[in-house]
Amino acid sequence: MSDRDGFIWLDGKLVPWRDANTHVLTHSLHYGMSVFEGVRAYDTGRGTAIFRLEDHTRRLFNSAHIFQMEVPYDEATINEAHREVVRVNKLESAYIRPLVYYGSEKMGVSPKGAKVHVAIGAWPWGAYLGEDGLKKGIRVKISSYTRHHVNVSMVRAKASGHYVNSILANNEAIADGYDEALLLDTEGYVSEGAGENLFIVKNGKVYTPELSSCLEGITRDSVVTLARELGISVEEKRITRDEVYCCDEAFFTGTAAEVTPIRELDNRKVGIGSRGPVTERIQSAYFDAVNGRNAQHEDWLSFI
Ligand code: PMP
Repeated sequence: MSDRDGFIWLDGKLVPWRDANTHVLTHSLHYGMSVFEGVRAYDTGRGTAIFRLEDHTRRLFNSAHIFQMEVPYDEATINEAHREVVRVNKLESAYIRPLVYYGSEKMGVSPKGAKVHVAIGAWPWGAYLGEDGLKKGIRVKISSYTRHHVNVSMVRAKASGHYVNSILANNEAIADGYDEALLLDTEGYVSEGAGENLFIVKNGKVYTPELSSCLEGITRDSVVTLARELGISVEEKRITRDEVYCCDEAFFTGTAAEVTPIRELDNRKVGIGSRGPVTERIQSAYFDAVNGRNAQHEDWLSFI
């Protein structure tokens, strides 16, 4: 990732990609305390637009607020910086990664005295769980690792340290021959994927877990809105593992994963064992929205 042409926005300046470095004694590198976002820009045919930019930036600032990190820029500056990195790197579509982190000014658990830095990088990134996964669905395994407890990790925040748990789960799933992990909460109810929210479809209705132990996904919110506009009922509720085994369809959502059908969970076929009809309608509505083909949701697009 480090050896590329292009520019990274770093603390207010555009820095050549290869020079956007930080010292090995960087506080966040040692203690995992940084917050970040995953954002996508799509080539809409009417120009490149960043999808729900303001909402991602708001969540980034909320994540920082939860951990009492003072971001030394306002939201408007960070929004413009996103547009700038897409423009200067001449990207038609992109994955954008803003990171707010503590620098190398001090060591020790307390970050007091460490400066808050902001970096924003952007690069082309295709389907996170594969093009085939988007069409045919992926194979998922319930993780032996439990998702965060609300009073252990602050799950409203998208914090780097939270992803140690995601990596454990994803590594295990991949090593066992699956595409992704699905984690349960501390009470045993379904929470979320290592980097995705979960939805199931049963008798034409869509259900998704409550937000107690999972990230408040922006794709999740887009999908809930779009599904309801299609006349599909969506309800948040506690979901058990065996409800997923016996549902008609299941899918993951995320900025990187977009809308990815789940065709199998724990070696049990989910529904018809491929992308189901409700998933397909919602997926296509999502791709219409991100690609600028839904006039009702122009406000979700920030043209660069
Ligand atoms: N849960 C986790 C753990 C994630 O990492 C992500 C990806 N950011 C999501 C859910 C989905 O969030 P979003 O739709 O905002 O990308």
